[in-house]
Amino acid sequence: MKNEPIYVTQPYLPPLQEFIPYLEKIWDSRILTNKGPFHRQLEQALGEYLGVDHIALFANGTLALVTALQALRITGEVITTPFSFVATAHSLLWNGIKPVFVDIDPQTLNLDPRKVEAAITPQTTAILPVHCYGNPCDVEAIQSIADNYNLKVVYDAAHAFGVQDAGGSVLRHGDLSVLSFHATKVFNTFEGGAIVCPDAKTKQHIDNLKNFGFVNETTVVAPGINGKMSEFGAALGLLQLEHIDRVFARRCEIDQLYKERLRGVPGIRCVEQTGQHVSNHSYFPVLVGEGYPLSRDALYERLRDNKIYGRRYFYPLISDFPMYRGLQSAQRQNLPVASDVAERVICLPIYPTLINEQVDEIISHIRKPCGLGG
Ligand SMILES: *Cc1c(COP(=O)(O)O)cnc(C)c1O
Repeated sequence: MKNEPIYVTQPYLPPLQEFIPYLEKIWDSRILTNKGPFHRQLEQALGEYLGVDHIALFANGTLALVTALQALRITGEVITTPFSFVATAHSLLWNGIKPVFVDIDPQTLNLDPRKVEAAITPQTTAILPVHCYGNPCDVEAIQSIADNYNLKVVYDAAHAFGVQDAGGSVLRHGDLSVLSFHATKVFNTFEGGAIVCPDAKTKQHIDNLKNFGFVNETTVVAPGINGKMSEFGAALGLLQLEHIDRVFARRCEIDQLYKERLRGVPGIRCVEQTGQHVSNHSYFPVLVGEGYPLSRDALYERLRDNKIYGRRYFYPLISDFPMYRGLQSAQRQNLPVASDVAERVICLPIYPTLINEQVDEIISHIRKPCGLGG
């Protein structure tokens, strides 16, 4: 039994010696960035692995979100979810766009399409939903609203690497989908991200935007940014891909263990994956409800006292941060489901090197307050 602190996630790292040949190539070629060979290879390999045709790599997911909105020339107001990581809404402010928060669905915890229409105004130009915890949004309902009102859809797919629905990759939906390869995500390049594009022309435009807006040596067509992924990051990504199937398999086992042993614990609800899809088991959120003897925060503290560091993703809601809370749409009465879930959610540790004994220990700390054995 390892008696180390258990964090909500631990970045996956392949054996170091496997990375050395990649580093030697970088050192030999002296190509460090700007669409080098590893960058090209990773775009190709990720496209094949994920089942999408056009991917533009980025230095991180936030720059990718900001650039995706720029690429589609989105302005005015954008409808989004308050139940996400703060970068989702920040990407709007960085573009001078007003976020309009809409409540989430109590089952999926994703933007509730039934509540979107009421938030549309003449200024609305797009919807920015999140596939929260990798659970696919109701993409058909969202697309049909977008079609009716002539809105763009950009998915924050930071949690949805490798997630598939009945028709294939969940990343094919909307006008653009944005990934994050941050250290805490299921697939990481230390820092990194990507935009999944529908066609080669859009990818070319986005490639220009992430390189200051250059289209050739002397022509700049837009106030682009420096969003490029380095060769180091791309090489790391190629190596991570070699291990990704094992990573997903182990995450799946841990998910099963939690589900089996938490079933029947009164007041604990595992956030079920809805609909038919291949999950990436990127998070293991549970909701602490009335029937449980401890409050969410008391359980959170109890776990911490035992060096188990779950995280309250997503608490506080984005709409409660100072730069958002003055907005009309940020008011709590507008967001009853998100406000309730933010008070009850806790994400339990899940990562490939977590061992069964550690999972058992976490579970027993949750069961014990109910008088249930380990
Ligand atoms: C991680 C994350 C981001 C930001 O990605 P970075 O690569 O860290 O910039 C954006 N949205 C969501 C939902 C995330 O979880």
